[in-house]
Amino acid sequence: MFDKILIANRGEIALRVIRAAREMGIATVAVHSTADSDAMHVRMADESVCIGPAPSPQSYLSVPAIISACEITGAQAIHPGYGFLSENAGFVQIVEDHGITFIGPSAEHIRIMGDKITAKETAKELGIPVVPGSEGGVPDLAAAKRVGESIGYPVIIKATAGGGGRGMKVARDEKEMERAFTTARAEAKAAFGNDEVYIEKYLTTPRHIEIQVFGDGKGNAVHLGERDCSLQRRHQKVFEEAPGPCISPEERARIGKICADAVAKINYIGAGTVEFLYENGEFYFIEMNTRLQVEHPVTEGIFGVDLVREQIRVAAGLPMSFTQDDLQINGHAIEVRINAEKLPNFSPCPGKITAYHTPGGLGVRMDSALYNGYSIPPYYDSLIAKLIVHGRDRSEALARLHRALGELIVDGIDTTIPLFHALLKEPDIHNGNYNIHWLERWLAANLPD
Ligand code: ADP
Repeated sequence: MFDKILIANRGEIALRVIRAAREMGIATVAVHSTADSDAMHVRMADESVCIGPAPSPQSYLSVPAIISACEITGAQAIHPGYGFLSENAGFVQIVEDHGITFIGPSAEHIRIMGDKITAKETAKELGIPVVPGSEGGVPDLAAAKRVGESIGYPVIIKATAGGGGRGMKVARDEKEMERAFTTARAEAKAAFGNDEVYIEKYLTTPRHIEIQVFGDGKGNAVHLGERDCSLQRRHQKVFEEAPGPCISPEERARIGKICADAVAKINYIGAGTVEFLYENGEFYFIEMNTRLQVEHPVTEGIFGVDLVREQIRVAAGLPMSFTQDDLQINGHAIEVRINAEKLPNFSPCPGKITAYHTPGGLGVRMDSALYNGYSIPPYYDSLIAKLIVHGRDRSEALARLHRALGELIVDGIDTTIPLFHALLKEPDIHNGNYNIHWLERWLAANLPD
């Protein structure tokens, strides 16, 4: 086992990793930008290294600075968290070339899944059901129109290098194709430096269901059921739950096994998430994330496992500490993402926290790097806290969420907390009756910006 690991991240996820490492008796090194000298992850780690100025390209994304920090402190492994360098195959290669262990999948698996067309082809070969669409990239408008005609409208045009919900455009008919295709390409070029796009059938009322998988890199893998992350704003998840309110044990076992078998076959190591759209009882693969997800705590809640501990174990060459049969679902868990954003238009709202009180009690988990008097810097993601609740069943989890939100105080800045108070009044939320468009429609009707 490692003696010391470095966490190449900040905020709540850096704390999450420090907590797991500390329970395992592993020393931790935090890295930080000059804007984060007072950040909680710096205070909580055993050691810290300043790796550059505030803008992330010069700090949290600076590969030489992170490698140097490892060498100076003698850290044997790097945990990337999510975002930043977590899905950067080039980074993983450099880490390994320096004799440091990357706590995550191989550069090759990250590369395959990072290119959405290759990911989809690989998924198909591994027996995972995919959304009908173009065979690979679509070079020009004429080809796009041919695809539209053959799979039928509406279609969605997506960036091969896409991520974070950007670079996607829907075309409802051939007339709309020209504009959608041109804009999608231009946006892809601007956002990802690669204008290749592909086309999929646009599913009109799907849910977003994702399967958590975990492999040991030696041909063994398990699944940890699904999360329903259908409540999204601009393709970004806002509220996640496990198990999915509409997934039966039989469906879970079937799709879970398909995913676990697929990752076992490629000797995948560590945590991964296979994302699907789910409509009329069918699963359609959209992408695979080769890292720990923001919403992993809901899975931890219902299975009672520590996924970060497990990531560190398999990276150190140890076997997984559970088998598929050990993994039994217990109750229901919900996570809400609290952002430093001002409603109704969700504009970023960094600033100083003047009062902070976290909820507690049975079944409540708060993953956050906030503290009283902390100043949220304007340079990074606006996620400031994840409130996760666990109950014996879905209705208990919802009641607990309501209770915990009532205890939570974050003063001094605007946050998305009022959104969740409002959502908990909606019968559709209580009935689990929502799809990926529900929240956008609700926002348009209830919080017009
Ligand atoms: P990203 O990597 O940018 O998050 P994804 O491929 O995971 O992109 O898609 C993000 C979201 O976009 C999905 O959760 C869903 O809401 C929507 N989406 C993607 N593909 C389709 C599709 N074929 N039909 C309908 N909605 C889609």
